[in-house]
Amino acid sequence: MENLSPIMLGFLGSLAAGSLTAVGAVPVLFGRIPSRATRDLSLGFAAGVMLAASFFSLIIPALDAAEPMFENGAMPAAIVCVAILLGMGAVALMNEKLPHEHFKTGREGPEAASLRRVWLFIIAITIHNFPEGLAVGVGFGPGGMQGGLPLAIGIGLQNVPEGLAVAVSLLGEGYPKLRAWGIAALTGMVEPIGGLLGAGIITLSEPLLPWGLAFAAGAMLYVISHEIIPETHRNGNQNRATLGLAVGLVLMLFLDVWLG
Ligand SMILES: [Zn+2]
Repeated sequence: MENLSPIMLGFLGSLAAGSLTAVGAVPVLFGRIPSRATRDLSLGFAAGVMLAASFFSLIIPALDAAEPMFENGAMPAAIVCVAILLGMGAVALMNEKLPHEHFKTGREGPEAASLRRVWLFIIAITIHNFPEGLAVGVGFGPGGMQGGLPLAIGIGLQNVPEGLAVAVSLLGEGYPKLRAWGIAALTGMVEPIGGLLGAGIITLSEPLLPWGLAFAAGAMLYVISHEIIPETHRNGNQNRATLGLAVGLVLMLFLDVWLG
């Protein structure tokens, strides 16, 4: 493993992480759907992992990477701030643009509204899987195994409840089991694409590293605030969702310090 190129490591790491989306969705194949409360707890866990990963695996490494490049003390922080905002803005823009064209000719009425909400959620998960893959790929770039491994494990773990959430919401809209599982699995396959791109860009250009890391963090932060946390708070399970978030946050922090 040690003598694989960073690009190959980035691809394999993000592929493994992305595949856990499909694993998470497996219960729907057998018609065994965990309760809403359990799903809100586990999706809260995903939010916690993503939150910690944004800071400990992306934003802090971005600052560390930017510091040797500049004399001026404020520059590294300024670059990272701008890149975070760009990452958040990019996902906001995609959220705004993508679904609209998709649903203009869709069905009408309340049924269409619920189906539309489900698909907005799926699109959000798919969109944010791209920066997650990007993050894993970028992580393997400079640090090799050490830099990428905690990210790949953390991102992989939080993909499990995300895959389940996607499959369950499709099932709820009357999709057959296999289709629901297949679509959930596909949302995870965006990650190796992001991973390949992330590892490639970083290998080609070192100065892009802080930008790439902080951009990926911003994209994740947007989805946590805009999709994941609201989704876990819609059914009165705020306490469980927050417990899940706390566990995910400390687990990712621990993984990053221990393996990183
Ligand atoms: Zn995620």
